[in-house]
Amino acid sequence: ATEDIKVLLLENVNQIGREILSQQGYQVEFLKSSLPEDQLIEKIRDVHVIGIRSKTKLTARVLKEARNLIVIGCFCIGTNQVDLQYAADHGIAVFNSPFSNSRSVAELVIGEIIALARQLGDRSNEMHNGTWNKVSNKCWEIRGKTLGIIGYGHIGAQLSVLAEAMGMSVIFYDVVNLMALGTARQVDTLDALLAEADFITCHVPELPETKGMIGQRQFEQMKQGSYLINASRGTVVDIPALIHAMRSGKVAGAALDVYPNEPAGNGDYFNNDLNTWGADLRSLKNLILTPHIGGSTEEAQTAIGVEVGQALVRYVNEGTTLGAVNLPEVTLRSLTMDEPNHARVIYIHKNIPGVLRKVNEIIGDHNVDKQMTDSRGDIAYLMADISNVDASTIKDLYERFESLASRIMTRILY
Ligand code: NAD
Repeated sequence: ATEDIKVLLLENVNQIGREILSQQGYQVEFLKSSLPEDQLIEKIRDVHVIGIRSKTKLTARVLKEARNLIVIGCFCIGTNQVDLQYAADHGIAVFNSPFSNSRSVAELVIGEIIALARQLGDRSNEMHNGTWNKVSNKCWEIRGKTLGIIGYGHIGAQLSVLAEAMGMSVIFYDVVNLMALGTARQVDTLDALLAEADFITCHVPELPETKGMIGQRQFEQMKQGSYLINASRGTVVDIPALIHAMRSGKVAGAALDVYPNEPAGNGDYFNNDLNTWGADLRSLKNLILTPHIGGSTEEAQTAIGVEVGQALVRYVNEGTTLGAVNLPEVTLRSLTMDEPNHARVIYIHKNIPGVLRKVNEIIGDHNVDKQMTDSRGDIAYLMADISNVDASTIKDLYERFESLASRIMTRILY
């Protein structure tokens, strides 16, 4: 029953997310901060659901104590703070919200394109220092200029639409062939994009292939006086090469929102030994530096609360894993659970030969309306809707599933 579901929310997760869970009738405990490991272990023993942000470390040591836990909600983008493999091996689903801030990033980039074209950062700094410096030399409208988008995913595609609305021509480069939005055009190579674009913006994931993707050779390919924006990941642009390109005038302006070796909290950044280029970078003109705020808006936080809150409810009530980061994605279209004498079997198991034969032996005696199974690595997830079952059959089904050698977790929802 829903009132038996215990939820622990840490780190002041978004209010809307909290309400979505409370409205289900779950018992929700809400804390503003994260917990030290010993207190976390004490609390996690009881709960079925835990919601965290980036500070709470759900290591194997902590999860080992979480005997009742079925699902983890990361009310944020990243999931590095969770031991995903340990969770999967113990049938604990993990959800996050990777794309809720795409629009926020795209809007920041639009703002930066205009700010760079008009040297807004420099003019504002000068005025703050009391200097009136009215210039039009090398200041441009963005109408009619070409925007080159590297990586046409969630953010790149949003940006494409916004940029065209302001009269820019859009070209993009992506490793996948994608449907261009509006009148945007995909180009075949990165070099082709670099040679044609006035503004270049990076929206690729952090991967071995994207590390240093924009380096000395790529700056050489760019048009004289072009602009570079990076709000993707700090490893994508080679900073010393950018410094060189800006000093030579090849690059007329740049905006960085992401950096190598980003700090864990607010405070000092450039004063460390890791980023030896810090002082050179800070001395450059028409360079906008922001501390990884691309996705940091109230709207994005709300969207995270809604997305993760709903994913948790769907998982608890229906067993749906769509969007899970560590389990196969399984769902069945209609819910027969509202009808009497129906049950949904969720069987999370090791993906070993012969399992499905045993599973079908168990459910084969019943009326199976729908069934779906999928695997991810060593873990498989089976969902089956069964009709004409009563309480004693449900108990029997549960016990038979639990006795299988492949078992990780059995849930029967009805
Ligand atoms: P996405 O996965 O939706 O899109 C990425 C695109 O890049 C995909 O279309 C993919 O095919 C393409 N791609 C992958 N490798 C490529 C390569 N080698 N060359 C060209 N294209 C390649 O991702 P997204 O949500 O649009 O995010 C893009 C980037 O923005 C990610 O690095 C993400 O971490 C970052 N991000 C930053 C902020 C911020 O606050 N600054 C916020 C959200 C996301």
